[in-house]
Amino acid sequence: MVRDSNLLCLFVSTILNGMDFNMKLYVVGTGPGTVEEMTHKARLIIEECDVVAGYEFYIDLIRSLLQGKKIISTGMTGEVERCTAAIKEALEGKKVCVISGGDAGVYGMAGLVLELAVKHPQLEIEIVPGVTAACSAAAVLGAPLTHDFSVISLSDRLTAWDIITKRLHAAAQADFIISLYNPASKARKNHLKKACEIIMQHRSPQTPCGIVRNIGRDGESSMILRLDELVYFDADMFTTIVIGNSETYVANNKLITPRGYDTNNSFPTSQYSHDCDKMNPQESVPHCHITNPQEPVPHQRFPFFIPLENKKVLIVGGGRIAARRAKVLLDFGASVTVVSPEICADMIEITDRIVWEKRSYSGIDQNFTLVIAVTDDRQVNKQIGENAKALGIYVSVADRKEESTFWFPAIARGSGIIAGLISEAGNHKAVKKAASDVRKVLNDDLGESE
Ligand code: SAH
Repeated sequence: MVRDSNLLCLFVSTILNGMDFNMKLYVVGTGPGTVEEMTHKARLIIEECDVVAGYEFYIDLIRSLLQGKKIISTGMTGEVERCTAAIKEALEGKKVCVISGGDAGVYGMAGLVLELAVKHPQLEIEIVPGVTAACSAAAVLGAPLTHDFSVISLSDRLTAWDIITKRLHAAAQADFIISLYNPASKARKNHLKKACEIIMQHRSPQTPCGIVRNIGRDGESSMILRLDELVYFDADMFTTIVIGNSETYVANNKLITPRGYDTNNSFPTSQYSHDCDKMNPQESVPHCHITNPQEPVPHQRFPFFIPLENKKVLIVGGGRIAARRAKVLLDFGASVTVVSPEICADMIEITDRIVWEKRSYSGIDQNFTLVIAVTDDRQVNKQIGENAKALGIYVSVADRKEESTFWFPAIARGSGIIAGLISEAGNHKAVKKAASDVRKVLNDDLGESE
């Protein structure tokens, strides 16, 4: 133990001794999330600086390290201004670093700082690498990047869309695993759809893919789905996507791209089959991997129609979605209890048909058949999900499909038929449209939307 801490001190002092701020500017990749996701060296340099420049979002993520330091922060389009100000401070002899999320050299600030510093050859620039989103997303999903991969940003803010599409075609054609950055923003809602359509011209629609949101930050979530489902996924700018190559498969809920090792004899008595069809005589290592044919991409939900007459359903939350859910459940004869300190006008309309407990959530009574967590507080919703699961009660957590044990469908009714619709890929718009189409087919006049 004593020996270990001595070694650590030696290591730290070696790094710090190499840290020379005389006419030197550090550009530091801070990794995908909070301070825990950073490399040790990145953290030491930031701690040593007097001035830290960065996009305000990344500054906020590492705020705990920045006490007493001068902060130069600007919004998303203020990159040139921010880096110029950092260079100026460094030229004045201050200890300065520019921080950049993930790795500073991957769509980050490293290139810009070097370009701006060309005019100041006396200023030394050191780039400190960080963990880029493709790698941290891959780690959440399994091991999808174990073979040649490409990274493509779908942002056309600084790159023409023509070039982006050319690169998508080339990467897909060459069977690279593809990691997509900047898959969407408010201004470019359908870029991901277009990218998937291009990739599907060269690759099977069943190709396993993964999406990871908010890696290493509050609310991290991930999903494995097929390429033809990814088309409909509603991504945002905090999402990284991985599209497998033609060999990528799913096992035990993980994405795996085989490198080519012979794993034939590892599970002599297992239920797995050994898929050696892809044996490649040209390679010295047989191209052979284990597949589990029982395991499709885990996206499926089986529709389960149950009687709800007089069954007790608990809705926690009093907003508009809660009211919509309550109305649908009342139509099916459920006995609805709403727990919420406040309720919206839509819910007030039906107070004579529900039991409203005007209070905050405090736990679940065992008599409920279903529970719906639809508050505007992430932690409360999460807690409700956990409590319901512990009691073996089916629960729908409105803001997290992966925490739900049942998904609340959009419903189309008519001509004595009931259809429940969900989107396997979480695309609400597609569900709304499909439900409205089905209602037309059923001559529906009673339907409720999700
Ligand atoms: N320099 C960064 C990339 C900046 S581009 C890096 O190396 O990771 C911004 C894009 O990176 C985002 O739109 C998203 O696609 C991806 N990204 C960065 N951090 C992420 C995170 N914590 N979770 C999910 N995606 C992330």
